[in-house]
Amino acid sequence: MRIHHLNCATMCPVAWSLFGLRDMICHCLLVETDAHGLVLVDTGFGTGDVTDPSHLGGAFRGLVRPKLDVAETALRQVEALGFRAADVRHILPTHLDLDHAGGLPDFPETTVHIYKKERDAALARATWREKERYKTRHVAHGPKWEPYEVQGEPWNGFECVRDLKGLPPEILLVPTVGHTRGHVAVAIEGPGGWLVHAGDAYFHKDEMHPEKPSCPRPLAIFQSTMGIDGASRRHNAERLRVMARETKVSIFSAHDADELDRERARA
Ligand SMILES: [Zn+2]
Repeated sequence: MRIHHLNCATMCPVAWSLFGLRDMICHCLLVETDAHGLVLVDTGFGTGDVTDPSHLGGAFRGLVRPKLDVAETALRQVEALGFRAADVRHILPTHLDLDHAGGLPDFPETTVHIYKKERDAALARATWREKERYKTRHVAHGPKWEPYEVQGEPWNGFECVRDLKGLPPEILLVPTVGHTRGHVAVAIEGPGGWLVHAGDAYFHKDEMHPEKPSCPRPLAIFQSTMGIDGASRRHNAERLRVMARETKVSIFSAHDADELDRERARA
């Protein structure tokens, strides 16, 4: 197994630099498995978002200011590594927010492993927040869903789903509901040990500090505004913090550029 740490989107929110924050990235994983093809964890923005960003919404584009560079899309990076879109056999989105699911239409034949709750929420778009975060264009091609129930067996303080259909046992879904209804972290046992892609279960590396966790104010406000279940979100962040402190598992969020640098150096 070989793991590539990709950045599949860059976002430069208004006034971010005033708080000393780096641009937000979209940390995605491209996993070369021995017998199961390529596995992509999160997709960032897709080529369709770059060519026609209007469906992302004026508020999102104005406040979050995505860079929308086609060279950053997962598809272009897969190709740059010498693969084709069809070589990506499985996608594991941590959730279906627009900055995580934008690349789905670039891989229309790929199986998408997802909690049923998350898929149903993205298709229903029942609340104003869900209309903002889930974009119909990202699922209009009819992804090949492989839905799961939120349940599982114990793993490092969480429940987890093992035996994902068509995937090796070194890849697990870890329910971390809170940011969205069916948010997951993805745990992978790679050549350097276990790592956990925590998606948007937290946003800033300081939130995982073992003794004095903290979060820059703009990110704290953003998380409580966009979270669907604040109590579950905080509880899951605490469980990730305990895992970071008490195990050798390497944990990173989707959007922290320092964590991406760290994981690339480690890899
Ligand atoms: Zn996100």
